[in-house]
Order: sequence, then C-alpha cells, then structure tokens
Amino acid sequence: MTKVPAYAAASATSPLGPHTVERREPGPHDVHIDILYCGICHSDIHQVRDEWGGSMFPMVPGHEIVGRVKAVGAHVKKFKVGDMAGVGCMVDSCRECDPCSHDLEQFCQKGAAFTYNGTEMDRKTPTYGGYSTQVVVDERFVLKVPEGLDPAGAAPLLCAGITTYSPLRQWNCKKGDKVGVVGLGGLGHMAVKLAASMGAEVTMLSTSKAKEADARKLGAHAFALTSDESTFEKLAGRFDLIINTISAPHDYNKYLGMLRPMGAMVVVGAPPAPTPVHAMSLIFGNKRLAGSLIGGIAETQEMLDYCGKHDIVSEVEVIPAAKINEAYERMLKGDVRYRFVIDCASLKGA
Ligand SMILES: [Zn+2]
Ligand SMILES: [Zn+2]
Repeated sequence: MTKVPAYAAASATSPLGPHTVERREPGPHDVHIDILYCGICHSDIHQVRDEWGGSMFPMVPGHEIVGRVKAVGAHVKKFKVGDMAGVGCMVDSCRECDPCSHDLEQFCQKGAAFTYNGTEMDRKTPTYGGYSTQVVVDERFVLKVPEGLDPAGAAPLLCAGITTYSPLRQWNCKKGDKVGVVGLGGLGHMAVKLAASMGAEVTMLSTSKAKEADARKLGAHAFALTSDESTFEKLAGRFDLIINTISAPHDYNKYLGMLRPMGAMVVVGAPPAPTPVHAMSLIFGNKRLAGSLIGGIAETQEMLDYCGKHDIVSEVEVIPAAKINEAYERMLKGDVRYRFVIDCASLKGA
C-alpha cells in the first residue's frame, strides 16, 4: 500500500479538507497514475452532501482524472510509463453480464465499481476518487488521453464530455442537423462544442441573455431565450435533437414542442422531483423522450480520440485544492465558466 495525500469530506455536513488515502500496490493488470488534474463535477457536490442518500465517508470525490502513468503491472499492454492517461466515473465492473459484454459497463447488472463513494468489485474495499495525487486502476478502465490535448482542459471530458458525446452519437448527430442545447453549464458547453464539431446547426436555449456571447464563442449558431414564452412558438417543430442539461425544475412539454416529427429530446440533467409529461406531447409528432448516463469504456475512448482529432477540450478554471470548498459555493451560484479543475500538484504537502 502507498499512502497518498488527498482532499476528503469527513461527513455530509463538513467542508472538505486534507486527508490521506491508501492506494494498492499495482497488480499485474494495474496502471499506477500520477494525477495531474481532476475536474469538479456537480455530482461531487450531491454526493459529498449526501443528497442522493447512501454516501460513504470519508469521501474523496473526483471522477474526471487526467495524469501520467507512473508504473504498470507486468501484463499491462495498453500503457507504458509516461503515457497520458484518464480515469472517468468507473474503475471496474463484473465484465461478464449482458450490459458489460455490450460495452455498457455503467449499467453492469452487479453494479459497476464507481470511482468514488463506492466499493471495488469485492464490495468491501472503498473507492477514492481523483481529489488526490495518485490512483491505481485496472488497465481496462483506464483511458488513453491524446497527447495533443491540454491535460487540464481534457479532465472534464471524462464525465461532462462523455455525458454529452454519447447522446449525440446515439441519435446520430450529423452535418446539417438542427440541435438545441438547453442550459449553458459544464454539460451544456460541451454539448455545444461537440454538436457544432459534428456539423450540426446548434441553438443555445437559455434563460440568461448574458450567456449569448459565450454560447456563440463556443460554436452555437443561434441563441434563444427560454424565459420569453414566444420562443417556444417561434421554434415549434424546429429541432431534430434537443440535449437537455438542466437539473432545475422545468416543463418538458414545452421543449418537446420544439422537436420536429420523429425528433428526440435526451435528458442528461436530473431535476429533483418528477416532471409531468403529457402523452400528447409525445404522440403528436412521434416524439421521443430519452435519457443517457455517461458512456461505456469503449465509447469514452472513442470520445477522447474524437476530441484529440478535433482539438476539443473543456473551458476550465484551474484551482488549488485549498479552493475546493469555495469552488463548490461558486458552482451552486452558477459562477463558473465552465468547469473547475483541481491542480493536484497543490495536494502535495497539503
Ligand atoms: Zn460527473
Ligand atoms: Zn457487469
């Protein structure tokens, strides 16, 4: 075991602070990574504050990890020392159930081993995430990060990137498609960049006029204010696909009205309470309402390779670990453009 510095929450009500975790000695299939950067995802806040229930403490959050390979086990084939590597939301799964054998490890029937606030597949050893300086993960769950990408900007691709890339691919986003992106936050800004890179005509749908200039800079071709009711009439029947990233309560029916016949709205944001959907909002126009959860390991690698080819990274504000609690407060106020990323070197000697 190696003791490594980390930042952890001791309980749902305590702020995060310096902590130490143990990482296992790398086994024959393991990759030992020196973490350079770790993104801060909204789900980190939900889990640290036990808003979804069942949180395990002490908790070291972080599932947007980018680093350099420090050592590899004897049987590791994909990685060598010095490679740029990434770890996303999962560190293992059963590898043999139906979803696992269809590259959908996030839906492993035994329950995937999530990167933090969970356990390894032995269901005993707790997992600790990327707010730390090192991590040891089986090579099957380690991603290759293209060398050309800025490592801090690449970190959020491991969750925000795959969360938005996967639905665009599932619904075959292509040149000329009219895509609406609802909400310009960590997820929304990646959806705009990715959809625009695929040749789609992207419209940012936001309640804040102040976001228009940024949306256009990120690649949106149009902007529509959803606090203005006339927007829903003007854009009725327009979109092939809507990626809905909003986790605040809102009326899905109004957005379904902006889809063309056979169009789809995919939700990747989770409002806290059930959202009523009228059957007629779906029946008229053969509309589809769908959800999407991150992506499997193969698709996550495909996304990273795609981002390497198209030079796509997240817009980030890099912070030292000592500013994590402040970053959480700023995220809750929407004061981030568009992802905080922890410089994990700041944890050394913390
Ligand atoms: Zn996440
Ligand atoms: Zn499985």
